[in-house]
Amino acid sequence: MPIRVTVWGENVHEQKHQLVRDIYPDGMHACIAAALNRDPGIKARTATLQEPEHGLTEQVLDETDVLTWWGHAAHGQVEDAIAARVHDRVLKGMGLIVLHSGHHSKVFKRVMGHNADLRWREAGEKERIWVASPGHPIAAGIDGYFELPHEEMYGEPFGVPEPMETVFISWFQGGEVFRSGLTYRRGAGKVFYFRPGHETYPTYHNATVQQVLRNAVKWANPDQRYGWGCPHVKAETALEPLVEHGGSVH
Ligand code: ZN
Repeated sequence: MPIRVTVWGENVHEQKHQLVRDIYPDGMHACIAAALNRDPGIKARTATLQEPEHGLTEQVLDETDVLTWWGHAAHGQVEDAIAARVHDRVLKGMGLIVLHSGHHSKVFKRVMGHNADLRWREAGEKERIWVASPGHPIAAGIDGYFELPHEEMYGEPFGVPEPMETVFISWFQGGEVFRSGLTYRRGAGKVFYFRPGHETYPTYHNATVQQVLRNAVKWANPDQRYGWGCPHVKAETALEPLVEHGGSVH
């Protein structure tokens, strides 16, 4: 069974700006999905903000092993109920890959429990992305580092909890550094934040970036799902005999 991926795209810049449309004629989400579908072990579909329920119906999420998220200009237009739905799915095991400016999305801030603030600059500078966890499956195929000739700068401090692993660290021409590949576990779900992907540069056409995305999908694919809940466990069903002591107000 291939890994079922839903590539979520805000799809706003592509509609408004010819510069972005020139780089991503079918939208950034279509470019990302095509890159993922180059691996026969992955089956990626797309969903966008403009669709009913932002394309993230319960049925779509039932059929999603890993969700990728790119947003920037319209974080506020994402319905709270949909962000809560995605968060709930992550806790139950769905993988989540948040890309670039998705750091300020409702989904990512909920999942992180933090503001996800950072420093930024649009100067088209060089980004050198170092592998900080050699041997990590998300960095498979990268020899030490790779470079993007032009990117937006994101700089520390990044307002996120300490990650489980720091897979990548970026250096920018202007001198800043940034933890640009971070892993988390939230409930049964695996979460990866990956920094590159400003809309006015052809970052998602880059072969190494595409490889990282495929690697990340395979890493985030759930091993198992968990339904959660707060069941009352009766003393009579305890695995060892119990003698009850004390009172209860329940
Ligand atoms: Zn950007």
